[in-house]
Amino acid sequence: MDPIVVDRSNQPGWIEVVCGSMFSGKTEELIRRLKRARIARLRVEIFKPAIDVRFSESEVVSHDENAILSTPVDSAHQIILLSGQAQVIGIDEAQFFGLELVEVCRSLAESGKRVIVAGLDQDYLGQPFEPIPQLMAIAEYVTKLHAICVVCGSPANHSQRIVTATDRVVVGASESYEPRCRRCFDPSLSSRTEGESNAAGQNPGLRATPDTDSGIPDIPAGDGLATDAISVTERMPQSPDSAEES
Ligand SMILES: [Zn+2]
Repeated sequence: MDPIVVDRSNQPGWIEVVCGSMFSGKTEELIRRLKRARIARLRVEIFKPAIDVRFSESEVVSHDENAILSTPVDSAHQIILLSGQAQVIGIDEAQFFGLELVEVCRSLAESGKRVIVAGLDQDYLGQPFEPIPQLMAIAEYVTKLHAICVVCGSPANHSQRIVTATDRVVVGASESYEPRCRRCFDPSLSSRTEGESNAAGQNPGLRATPDTDSGIPDIPAGDGLATDAISVTERMPQSPDSAEES
């Protein structure tokens, strides 16, 4: 059931998880819930890992620049120390906090706080990415979002790394990752060199580009709402002589 429509004002805290691939709108959904909590005059605190400095040092910033002020922290334990009198705790990019975050969230919820956690549920190889799977298990509410596959336009469940790297954590946005569906996802792509991938004939280099006739841009326009605006249009060949000849 949607936690937004459940009146839990007389109940103790709880945990909400917002998960999915990159470009699926996780941060937008986190911001939406936190803004509604503020409208309800609840005390809100937002935390993100200090490792994530892609956009701003002090704001939770999603790819469409819909920002909300946050506190960067080096470890999950700091969230307990800094949460103070907050009634609602938002945590973004949870995958960077590791398994320590599970007990932190449990402790916050048991102390009466509403905890909203957003993060990737899979790594670049398509494997479960702790601590989100563990948090999904102990959460009261789980929301899984999807991006749009940039190759075929289907709902995308995977974050395709499109640069050569085998580290599990490579912080980046559309220059390093693109959303893909199960059919178009290739977990071995980022471990091959560009020459190997060309020789294999499976992908046109690491910066894979979709069929140009599909009309789908090769870089996602943004997170969440922006990707929804992608439309597939068929380009019909226009020949002034075709009508006369047929
Ligand atoms: Zn696809």
